[in-house]
Amino acid sequence: MHKKTIAELSRSLQAREFSSVELTRHLLSRIDALDGGLNSFITVTAEGALAAAAAADERIARGEGGPLTGIPLAHKDIFCTEGVRTSCGSRMLDNFVSPYDATVVSRLKDAGMVMLGKTNMDEFAMGSSNETSFYGPVHNPWDLKTVPGGSSGGSAAAVAARLAPVATGTDTGGSIRQPAALVGITGVKPTYGRVSRYGMIAFASSLDQAGVLTRTAEDAALVLEAMSGFDPRDSTSSPAPVPCYHGSLQESLEGLRVGVPEEFMDEGLDSENRAAVEAALDVYRALGATVSTVSLPSLALSVPTYYVVAPAEASSNLSRFDGVRFGYRCDDPADLLDLYQRSRGEGFGDEVKRRIMTGTYVLSAGYYDAYYLKAQKVRELIAREFRQAFQHVDVLMGPTTPAPAFELGAKTTDPITMYLNDIYTIAVNLAGLPGVSIPCGLVQGLPVGLQLIGPHFSEARLLNVAHRYQQESDWHQRLPVGY
Ligand code: GLN
Repeated sequence: MHKKTIAELSRSLQAREFSSVELTRHLLSRIDALDGGLNSFITVTAEGALAAAAAADERIARGEGGPLTGIPLAHKDIFCTEGVRTSCGSRMLDNFVSPYDATVVSRLKDAGMVMLGKTNMDEFAMGSSNETSFYGPVHNPWDLKTVPGGSSGGSAAAVAARLAPVATGTDTGGSIRQPAALVGITGVKPTYGRVSRYGMIAFASSLDQAGVLTRTAEDAALVLEAMSGFDPRDSTSSPAPVPCYHGSLQESLEGLRVGVPEEFMDEGLDSENRAAVEAALDVYRALGATVSTVSLPSLALSVPTYYVVAPAEASSNLSRFDGVRFGYRCDDPADLLDLYQRSRGEGFGDEVKRRIMTGTYVLSAGYYDAYYLKAQKVRELIAREFRQAFQHVDVLMGPTTPAPAFELGAKTTDPITMYLNDIYTIAVNLAGLPGVSIPCGLVQGLPVGLQLIGPHFSEARLLNVAHRYQQESDWHQRLPVGY
């Protein structure tokens, strides 16, 4: 059962080959047996899952089920879930039980999906390797010595190991696409504003966007459709109607104009990773696409720009966790100042503190113009270069990451090297664009991803472009040994 995609599971559930309760039990037992080595879940909600599955089975029996009814899923632990711990990977929220559901959670619940639990993540989604979690690192199922990518590393590892057919994620600078690439699955980061951020714990509000991690583009289309759309509780959510994503998956790619940014294929890219991307471009040529080289000259500025803007917003967002209004409170404070200082000092990990300090610095009087304001200007420059590129091409393609997964601990002592891991993903968030990563090869036995980037609200086209590739390739069907 665990090898089936959502589309296949859905057909089996409707045909009563097995029930949602049986499917849910099966996945819970896999989590029990296999997650010890992965650490992809922070919380498993077995009881709630079985109750939701039983309700889904009744719905199906009454003939009221939709395509997602009875399908199990896991939520990144950044989404608030009513009555269930929502930790954001931090000691700060270790004991936080949310009194309400995030919009993403409630929409998927309404569609009849069954939550198996909450997945591990970098603390407050800050990281590229899932090593900053208070709950310990997540391991990549392809090689337990390597990282699964971050910050949605738990979601990615759980889907790759077939513990859940889909998991939600968030992407502020690459946190859906990058882990999807490193574990060989499909990751979709929608346009900024496509999916509501209500109930999603904020990291950098102008960049954060929820999305999905699945095995196939077809599955991503089904889930994305259910979670997208306007939400009056998120003032940045878009009123644009949600297209039927799975309805256009089969469209022809004849005449599709693909642009490959030359800055993506530079010397920073691993040579075997490059070969995998080039082989994927050949598949698109065979499907009728034309491939040309384009230039995004300011791409190199995206990492420094992001690491001013994101920490600035984070320093503001995280000020609410002070031991009084929200979050962990230290024992026996001597006075109010001691309470603030020790609650934050003990509640946050090193990476989060580093971001808060950087963010506070770049926003401080005297430095605001030199750093924050300048970063905002460069951000616009980057967005403009994408707009210009999309006057000539329909979709941009390139690698998702510079190389396959690295070993745990390899980059933890050097934050800058870690930050450079996101060089190909970050610009997309700065410009608010949608991006998809699909598996396109194995480099020394480890998966690598092909990244597809489109203009705002081009999710339907991107999913179609991803799906057609998956009909011609089998990288998305490869399974890590032992799972
Ligand atoms: N790796 C980036 C960071 O550490 C992006 C994380 C994300 O997308 N949440 O900020």
